Amino acid sequence: MRSEDIAAAIRNSIMLVVICGALLIPAAAQTTAIRAGKLIDPDSGTVLTGQTILIRDNKIEAVGNNVTIPSNAKIIDLTKMTVLPGLIDCHTHLADGADGDEWFKEAAAQIALESVPNARVTLESGFTTVRDVGPYRALVDIALRDAINRGDIIGPRMFVAGAYVTITGGAGAATGLAPDITLPWDLHYGEANSPWEVRQVIRKLAHDGVDHIKVLSSGAVLTHGSNPKSQEFTLEELQAAVDEASHFGLRVESHAHSTQGIKNAIRAGVASVEHATMIDDEGIALAKQHGTYLDMDIYDEECIQEQGKKGNVSKDYLQHDEQLGQIQRDNFRKAVAAGAKMSFGTDLGVCPYGTSGKQFAFMVKYGMTPMQAIQAATSNAADLLGHSNEFGSIKPGKYADIIAVTGDPLADIHALETVQFVMKDGKVYKQ
Ligand SMILES: [Zn+2]
Repeated sequence: MRSEDIAAAIRNSIMLVVICGALLIPAAAQTTAIRAGKLIDPDSGTVLTGQTILIRDNKIEAVGNNVTIPSNAKIIDLTKMTVLPGLIDCHTHLADGADGDEWFKEAAAQIALESVPNARVTLESGFTTVRDVGPYRALVDIALRDAINRGDIIGPRMFVAGAYVTITGGAGAATGLAPDITLPWDLHYGEANSPWEVRQVIRKLAHDGVDHIKVLSSGAVLTHGSNPKSQEFTLEELQAAVDEASHFGLRVESHAHSTQGIKNAIRAGVASVEHATMIDDEGIALAKQHGTYLDMDIYDEECIQEQGKKGNVSKDYLQHDEQLGQIQRDNFRKAVAAGAKMSFGTDLGVCPYGTSGKQFAFMVKYGMTPMQAIQAATSNAADLLGHSNEFGSIKPGKYADIIAVTGDPLADIHALETVQFVMKDGKVYKQ
């Protein structure tokens, strides 16, 4: 090549670089370094000190005590705090508006917009991920999840159910109305009364874009005309649910208070039993054998009874609830002692949004170590959701979902009721 040609070639390649540079070089990655005083690692059940967490964009890049901090990194000093992975509540109802019991008095759009602050306060209380287990108005939860994911509104990472898969008149049905009232489609979307109807409903929900399936295999406390001690769905219907959901890569959780409803759900192969109130020794043994998580909301009894004293809870709900609260807490203790897999779920919406953290102290009071309670809401919860590789601990490659509290939650678990720092997906929401 002659020297003029070489010069021209260089000029051209420089132009190409400039042109391509404008088009192809991505915006500089945002790098953040968090200096952690104490860092709780739920995977190993240990506390690490002197750790630096390096975050590039929305992912954790490195964690350790000799991480080199790039000169352009933004530094967040949490050396006086205890740092934990973002908390996960596996049983929430964020998409029921301002008052979950008023579902028949408002249009779906009103309920959706009223749910916006529910999502925000949940995130600000330290819960960066929730498994939302059903709205009364079908698919409102999908709208909420997608608005959060687009960045239109602020909230936790949501995994949603779309609707309750329930028998007619069952725990997840819209009941309490006169029989000649015709409900809108979205108040009975998940009703099913045979294995094939169960499959049909799940096919619709999968098409709608849900993340998991919620079935109800016993009556409920907070549903009119329901008996929490009863069994709902047959074993055959529950097996159909788990099988059909698996075709779409979806896991199933089952609401169950009654002893038989719990066992049917476990035998059918659900990922978790919600409430598990009247679980007996055989049920606990079955849960261990099948690797089923027990997601026991042992705090919300406080709110039901407190609101009951103020006259804000229907009389039939309070009758359903009688003694069940203490039975559930005693059975929680048994399940923990037996070594069953436990996750953290509060039935958020029964208690005010933003108060999920209050359940930790009850889990410790009823037999867990503080570390076990933290694991239930982090590594175990991520495992239950099938996303252990994405969140649940502070490890390279995972989303930068990080919180911090003052004090040591292993010494005083109440520290988790007041979360001071919240980062989700690499973005700080509270500091
Ligand atoms: Zn619930």
